[in-house]
Amino acid sequence: MTTRSAIDERHARADMVRHGASLFNRGLTAGSSGNISVRLDEGWLITPTNSSLGRLDADRISKLDREGRHVSGDAPSKEAVLHRAIYEERPDAGAIVHLHATHSAAVSCLCGLDPANCIPPLTAYFVMKVGRLPLVPYHRPGDPYLGDAIRGLARTHSSVLLANHGPVVSGIDLDAAMNAIEELEETAKIFLLLRGSQTSPLDDAQIAELRRVFKLDLPPPSAS
Ligand SMILES: [Zn+2]
Repeated sequence: MTTRSAIDERHARADMVRHGASLFNRGLTAGSSGNISVRLDEGWLITPTNSSLGRLDADRISKLDREGRHVSGDAPSKEAVLHRAIYEERPDAGAIVHLHATHSAAVSCLCGLDPANCIPPLTAYFVMKVGRLPLVPYHRPGDPYLGDAIRGLARTHSSVLLANHGPVVSGIDLDAAMNAIEELEETAKIFLLLRGSQTSPLDDAQIAELRRVFKLDLPPPSAS
């Protein structure tokens, strides 16, 4: 008899293939960049290293145990260290999406970003889906120190921006992580379109109202 866990894993693999293709086909990831993971009872699944999100094979997706050790499938993405750090710091995180999406990656290369919140609260949906977006200092891809750098921020933020790289977004499930990273990318585009223009981001009272009405798990302004 098939266990509940096995059914969940089969669904998770199918969702990763479907969402990966959707991201790739819409130009939100290119080549072999980006990775997706989903938490399981006994560990987590992650897209393999050097794989295109547009052409994932459900049976070859990497399976890791809770400590991040490779259990089955192809070798995991070298960015698995990011995912492990977030899963360990965010018990409610059920899935993570990391992309090199053009506009978010462009923002990650700008001078003068507020490291506590790289993109101002320009729209209500950015506040609702992403909240605040702290900057993780540059480390080369796969650098184990990247995990340490992300760990403290992940505790209080569902999304972070890796400097000169791109966003990493967690959610309670893959749909939530997808919605959040897509909102982030769209807001990064708006932010870049508005560069050099006077803008009127949401003020503290408007953000407090969103936090109250939508019961947002937003870090307080002093957290970073
Ligand atoms: Zn990356």
